[in-house]
Amino acid sequence: MGDPRRAIPRTDAVLAEPRVAKAAGTLGRDLVKAVVTDVQRAARNGEIAPGDVVDAVLARLPAGAASLRPVVNATGVVVHTNLGRAPLSAAALDALVAAGGATDVEFDLATGERARRGRGALAALAAAVPDAGGVHVVNNNAAALLLCALALAPGREIVVSRGELVEIGDGFRIPDLLAATGARLREVGTTNRTSVRDYADALGADTGFVLKVHPSNYRVTGFTSEAALGELAGLGVPVVADIGSGLLAPHPLLPAEPDATTALRAGATVVTASGDKLLGGPQAGLLLGDADLVERLRRHPAARALRVDKLTLAALEATLRGPRPPVRAALDTPVESLRQRARALARSLADVGAEAVSSVAAVGGGGAPGVELPSAAVSLPARYAAALRTGEPAVVGRVERDRCLLDLRTVRPEEDAKLLEAVRRCG
Ligand SMILES: *Cc1c(COP(=O)(O)O)cnc(C)c1O
Repeated sequence: MGDPRRAIPRTDAVLAEPRVAKAAGTLGRDLVKAVVTDVQRAARNGEIAPGDVVDAVLARLPAGAASLRPVVNATGVVVHTNLGRAPLSAAALDALVAAGGATDVEFDLATGERARRGRGALAALAAAVPDAGGVHVVNNNAAALLLCALALAPGREIVVSRGELVEIGDGFRIPDLLAATGARLREVGTTNRTSVRDYADALGADTGFVLKVHPSNYRVTGFTSEAALGELAGLGVPVVADIGSGLLAPHPLLPAEPDATTALRAGATVVTASGDKLLGGPQAGLLLGDADLVERLRRHPAARALRVDKLTLAALEATLRGPRPPVRAALDTPVESLRQRARALARSLADVGAEAVSSVAAVGGGGAPGVELPSAAVSLPARYAAALRTGEPAVVGRVERDRCLLDLRTVRPEEDAKLLEAVRRCG
């Protein structure tokens, strides 16, 4: 009997197999070759039969050349920071693909001359918020705040309430971000109460602007009060309002969540917001407000370092002009339709102990702290949580009272079939 290791196919032969060759075309030959070498080693160690080498290679190849994997968000947290915040709409994804190649982002095809960068996205934003005299887009909301501090308060004071010194996440704090520009923070009021008088007393020749920050990831309740934007607008200095979530107009289900239109009408000079929270678009920072002031921000030298790429501009414009993005659909879906889907899924999975249950979903770090969204979930034995998370596609649910809940408020209806298959594969 010959050495079975002789039967292990050679690298060239494996790479020539049509399915492997096709994978090398999309993933790159080096990546695929490294997997082939690994599998051949496993075959030499007797862990894989020589006849199974090609199948083992195919099984070990990643789905794409990047390591980021698609995830079904079944957490019930609509804007989930760790899962990439807002999933993009189909229209935004199409726009990304179209803009991926050479594109007219800064070029007028009619005249053949240079044109204003991102004019389509800026026009869509201006149309969505007619109260804004000027609009600009930067890398994210943190960059928008940074630009305000650099342009409006160099070496000067930013007056802000002690109740609004917010930590955004991952240890990053808005006051530190602003102080890093060299501006000085002038804290006024107390954690729970700040009056317009507190702001007025702090104003002086050194004031750059008053900053109002929406506490988007926590709530202070009880004996509290804050100055209204309208009152601050009368103080005679620019008022920058960081509304956080990126609602452009009021949302009926989130009455306490600030929006750009209302903030501008109340007298904010400039509003800053994120593009990938409740707006439902790509990561971006929106600046909306007084035309002259926004122009000053746009012309500041640092604006070049904070600008967005063509992909962001394309996805943002499509989000603004196109159909309702997934985040908004997740917020607005009536609970009864979620219950129906939960019952249908639970029926199909009755043999593994699935049940349809009521659930409570949340908006998430993206805004509306404390708001409970009525929802429905498929409840499975707790052991499914890890198996689903590490499966393909990865499904992330949440564990509650020793059950794994798949909350359907954050699962798109077209993902239900994937969910079903994923649970089946866990056995
Ligand atoms: C999320 C948030 C930020 C940070 O926004 P990014 O787009 O993540 O930079 C700043 N301020 C508030 C109030 C927020 O909610």
